[in-house]
Amino acid sequence: MSEAEAAAPSPTRILVVDDHPDNVEILDARLSSRGYKVETATNGQEALDRVLADPPHLILCDVMMPVMDGYEVSRRIKSDESLPFIPIILVTARDSTADKVEGLEAGADDYLTKPINFPELEARVRSMLRIKRLQDELDEKNRELEVANKRLRKLSITDGLTELFNHRHVQTLLHDEFERSHRSGELIAVAMLDLDRFKNVNDTYGHPTGDVILYETAHILRDTAREVDMVGRYGGEEFIVILPSTDEEEAARFAERIRHAVEAHEYRDEATLVRMTVSCGVASFPAPGVDSPEALLKRADEALYAAKTGGRNRVVRATEMPSPP
Ligand code: GH3
Ligand code: MG
Ligand code: MG
Repeated sequence: MSEAEAAAPSPTRILVVDDHPDNVEILDARLSSRGYKVETATNGQEALDRVLADPPHLILCDVMMPVMDGYEVSRRIKSDESLPFIPIILVTARDSTADKVEGLEAGADDYLTKPINFPELEARVRSMLRIKRLQDELDEKNRELEVANKRLRKLSITDGLTELFNHRHVQTLLHDEFERSHRSGELIAVAMLDLDRFKNVNDTYGHPTGDVILYETAHILRDTAREVDMVGRYGGEEFIVILPSTDEEEAARFAERIRHAVEAHEYRDEATLVRMTVSCGVASFPAPGVDSPEALLKRADEALYAAKTGGRNRVVRATEMPSPP
């Protein structure tokens, strides 16, 4: 295709619908002479089929037709949300106010009475096409806006470094999940994980290597978690996993798999190889003394602290802790 061909605007396509071939022919001739590409249909169903197959830019539609009249054609086209805006001009011999109102109520955009006054017809066609262009631009802008909004929403809930959920979103999720579990009686567990002696990595190999380790740890977490689990970066080198329908024992097994995977993983940043370990605290709900998402988090955090003070590279369950007063 040459550049000129590629840039050439596609012709404006008008669908003419009338059960009288003579009427179709006259309109076809007139509109074609004005440079429009005319397509024709001789009943409502055929018109609908054409519109669905390849939506025209405008429809000139007779009202009185056997099987499906112009009102019904208008209703069907305007109620189909998969279609773009297609102006419909009804063309009819019926010119009572009631008829016009019915046509416009059915979704038609304009109304012309027979016998057709061609200059008026052409002016109305041009006017409708102007509105269509504006509407199409608006639709396109709305689509772009939707895409941008989706991207923004994703950004607003994602941690930039690890691509896990960020702290704020994990808080929201935890509140929602806790609420749900509270209502349904379903179990819920959380695992808090914190890399051991991570500061040493930054001090020894530099911050960028630390970042690689955080990223790869996030990968391990995501790989180990189930589809329903929610994995977030809770803080610097601290992670959280929300585990729906999971009791503390299962959560501890999950945490143990992660602990093992981290221990077995060879973190690599170019020529630098680093081995890491992780400490983990798990807690579940329902449990005595746990009546809020904050309380559940606190239990997991205390268990994590016990894992740290107990020597690191281990999983501690909240029920192994002294019970709250
Ligand atoms: P512990 O075993 O007790 O958890 O010791 P630790 O060194 O892992 O813990 P500490 O809380 O003392 O240090 C965490 C370090 O994590 C300090 C901070 O500079 C580093 N850190 C936090 N966020 C980032 C980040 O985004 N990238 C990198 N590279 N380092 C980070
Ligand atoms: Mg740490
Ligand atoms: Mg820490």
